[in-house]
Amino acid sequence: MKYTGLHFVSRELEKLKQQGLIRKFKTIAAINGPRVKITDDRSLMTGRRLLPAKDKWYLSFCTNDYLGLAQHPALRRAAIAAIKKFGVGSGASRLMAGTFTPHEELEQSLARFKQTEDALVFTSGYAANLGVITTLVNKNDFIFCDELNHASLVDACRLTGAKLYIYHHRDVTHLEEGLKRFKENKFAVCHRPSKIFIVTDSIFSMDGDPAPLREIVTLAQKYQAITIIDEAHGTGILGNRGLGLAEHLGVEKQIDVITGTFSKALGGIGGFVTGSKKLISYLRSKSRPFIFTTALPPASCAAGLKALEIIQTQPVLRKKLWANTDYIKNKLMESGFDRRGSETPIIPIMIGDEKKTLKIADYLWQKGFFVPAIRPPTVPYGQSRLRISVTAMHQRTHLDALLKCLKQIHLDR
Ligand SMILES: *Cc1c(COP(=O)(O)O)cnc(C)c1O
Repeated sequence: MKYTGLHFVSRELEKLKQQGLIRKFKTIAAINGPRVKITDDRSLMTGRRLLPAKDKWYLSFCTNDYLGLAQHPALRRAAIAAIKKFGVGSGASRLMAGTFTPHEELEQSLARFKQTEDALVFTSGYAANLGVITTLVNKNDFIFCDELNHASLVDACRLTGAKLYIYHHRDVTHLEEGLKRFKENKFAVCHRPSKIFIVTDSIFSMDGDPAPLREIVTLAQKYQAITIIDEAHGTGILGNRGLGLAEHLGVEKQIDVITGTFSKALGGIGGFVTGSKKLISYLRSKSRPFIFTTALPPASCAAGLKALEIIQTQPVLRKKLWANTDYIKNKLMESGFDRRGSETPIIPIMIGDEKKTLKIADYLWQKGFFVPAIRPPTVPYGQSRLRISVTAMHQRTHLDALLKCLKQIHLDR
């Protein structure tokens, strides 16, 4: 028989199966506001398709499209116009022949919006974090990271080879302890590191809780650290003008580097970094995840540009999002649900036990609600939860229907 080194894949797959960690898609066949049409996967699971696959509409509580911009007519029109003008692909990397006028317009518009000197757009938020951190940090440096940072920040920090100090979630005392020890040179590092960085999500993606940015910028001043903040979940929803958590807390001018994405509240695709002209110029010339990949399609840039315009001219969408968020939060609290420290449209509902969480998510699914169960290894054992994300597209009746179903479960427990 032909030798194949890939046998280990079957063994690993078997392990995943036993742990219940085989992941599957829920494929959306149609979408209409907060509703999605999904093929019922139980009929697919039988393999032999005894039952014809059935499509059913679900009310979704798991999109990051907080303002509904992904389906917005103005964004669709902008993207279509750009496709007509430029085609569907960009044909080359940014520094070769892949930069079109929509790329430049988007970067200028983003810098104006974030009130920074310049901005650079990447193909995703993941790529932006990788591109920024691996370019600015080298292995003789030191990074302070929140323990619940997004995977893209974790991967980026690991890739640098720098020494990492992982501080307890949102714990500025623990962070300062580390900074102090570093200052007193109590870490066993042979070379005195040249630079120190503090890297954190602004809004944490699992619990929707905010990073203590005010305290972090104060500590950064005191210990001369460089701050890199990921506003993936803050951009477009927080702050008076929608700049993000930094604006909401009034510290946007004191942060050195802000990254983010067009894929959440902005409804499209593409990551970004904003900062000084020199910073952006340096990244443009040095950042490998920026340089060695094909540029975003011009149509995605055109959609992003329109999204920035809408964020700035239609605060009513943000108001609707927050009205929905406050409404469901208050109702959940009244009904005695533990929703952790969420201060955003990302609302965890703590259940605890893994099996029970799955059972509840499955029950909601039967009832037509698409609410994800978050289990280990994403969260620690015994801390399984449902994760609701509310959007501006939801109507009160949608929220009430979900609340009614959740309350029913609560009573049955
Ligand atoms: C989603 C997310 C990213 C990745 O952004 P993409 O554009 O989806 O690649 C990065 N950081 C955080 C905190 C996120 O939530």
